[in-house]
Parts: sequence; structure tokens; C-alpha cells
Amino acid sequence: MDLLDNAIKSIQMGIEDFEDEDSKRAISAVRNIYSGDLLLFKYFLSEKLTDEEFWALKKAGAVQNSKERSDIIFKKDNRTIGFSDLAKICHVLFKEGVWENVKALNKARNDVEHHYSEYSPGFLCRLVSNNFAFLKYLIEEKLEEDPIIILGEKYWNILKDTEGNYKILEKKCINSLNQIQWWAPSFFKLIPWFQCPEFSSHLLETEEKGDFHNEMLLGCSECGNKIHAYEILEETVSQYFEPENYISVRYGGDSLTGICPECQLETYIFEDDICLSCGYKRLYTECARCHDGISIEEQDFGGLCGYCYNLCIKDD
Ligand SMILES: [Zn+2]
Ligand SMILES: [Zn+2]
Ligand SMILES: [Zn+2]
Repeated sequence: MDLLDNAIKSIQMGIEDFEDEDSKRAISAVRNIYSGDLLLFKYFLSEKLTDEEFWALKKAGAVQNSKERSDIIFKKDNRTIGFSDLAKICHVLFKEGVWENVKALNKARNDVEHHYSEYSPGFLCRLVSNNFAFLKYLIEEKLEEDPIIILGEKYWNILKDTEGNYKILEKKCINSLNQIQWWAPSFFKLIPWFQCPEFSSHLLETEEKGDFHNEMLLGCSECGNKIHAYEILEETVSQYFEPENYISVRYGGDSLTGICPECQLETYIFEDDICLSCGYKRLYTECARCHDGISIEEQDFGGLCGYCYNLCIKDD
């Protein structure tokens, strides 16, 4: 019963830290909520895991050293299981997306320890909102309990309201971005990946309307920063296309993105055949002599591919 008590106390303390005006307590909020989450998760593993769930974990190799349910949370050397073990377990037992919430909190906790001394209030709201989703799932679906009874009505309502407010902000941002004319199909894939460089917030909005351009200002609803679109576009393209580029090149294909000869950013998207940053389009796509494709690097050869261009110069 200790685990559950400690988990509840830790989460409640974290929520109190979160509610406090003093920004120094933000760090303590992240630490307390995170450790409370892990304790509650361990409580679930040690007390509430069903036989089917235990065998599913064994079968997936997620709890290799455990003979019985009761030793899942302890490793051989008597340390309790850590974040990576929990990740494996989550992937077997939990619905998709739930673990993402805890991962975000874990990242925040590491950032707190290593990089940042302070947090923007908006950033904390996102974490608390993420945490609401995780706790709701864990308590209602896995522990089969009422979160109001487990955490107390006051605490649960703070989490719930924060999540609600965060969702409203999110909607406001999406609505503002919907006012923009996104003139290439790839934008629609990339928009959900746009993020503020500070604390990686996705809550970006704009006061502009009309065609997208790379000088456009995006405001971060979490930290208040104003960011030019070109400051995040290249990074977003790189992050989004990285896995596909890797696979394509590995199997002998071409990269799906390229460096634009006009603006020098790696924001040329071949499937749209346009640079998302400056709108540059290739003049030539097919070699007039051999009908091979003409890359963006070969645009200066007057409609010939590099090979044919070199042949022609030699002939002259
Ligand atoms: Zn920000
Ligand atoms: Zn360009
Ligand atoms: Zn050619």
C-alpha cells in the first residue's frame, strides 16, 4: 500500500507546486509529478497486473528477469526498474500515445536537471495537460478506480481544468494557421511538426493572413517568443523527412529533400517540386538530349543534365 500512498502524495505535491505563483517551484512540480507517475505505474505493476498482462510481458521479453509478478519492479541487483524498462512495458500493455505523455514529462525532468533553471508557465501547462491524459488512462483503465477518489477532487480538477485550457489554446493556434494559404501539399504534413525552439512547444499562432512566406511571424503561446517561419522551417523539414530520406537513400533511391539553389536552405521538396521556404521551382525537370531527370544542382546547364552538358562542351 506504500507505493500507492507515496505516488498520490508525490503527485499532489507536484500539483501544489504547479499552482504556486513562485516560478522556482516549477522545477519541483516537474520532479514530483514525474516521480509520482512512476510510483503509480509501479503500483499497477506490482498489485494490479492481470495474469494475461504478465504473460504478455514475458512473451514480449519486456520483463526478462521476473519469475513472478511481484518481482517485476525489482531488478536482480535490487534496483527498481528504470525508465527504459517502463517504456518496454508500456508498449506492450498500454494503448498508443499514452507513453508519449510520460516521455514528455521525463524529457522535461531531464532538461530541468541538466539545462534549464526556469520554465515558462505555458510549458508547465502542457506537461500537466499531458499528465492528465496519462493518469486518466492509468487510473481509470488499468487500476479501474475513480481518479477523483484516488487523487482527491481538488487535485483532479486542477489537472482537468489545465488540460481543458490547454486544449482551448491549441484550438486557437490551429484556427489561426488555417487562415494561411499553404501553397504546397507538404505544408500540411509539416504543420503539426512546427515547434518553438524554446522547450519545443507546438502552440504556434499567427496574426497574418494570406500566402505563407518565410518571413512570417509565428507567436509561441507557451513562452511568448515571436519566431520567423524560416527559423523553424528547415529544422521541421529535416525532422519530418529524416526517416524517409534515410530509408530511400539506403535502398539506392534519392533523398526526398534538397538544398534550394535560390535560398540555400534544405527546404526543396521533390514530391511537390518546390522550395517551401522561398517558393523556387526547378525550371528544367527533363534533359532535352537524353530525357533523364535534371536535379536542382543541374539547373544552370540550360536544360541539359550534367552528363549531356559536359558532352556538349567537349564537342564545342
Ligand atoms: Zn516557445
Ligand atoms: Zn528556396
Ligand atoms: Zn542528358
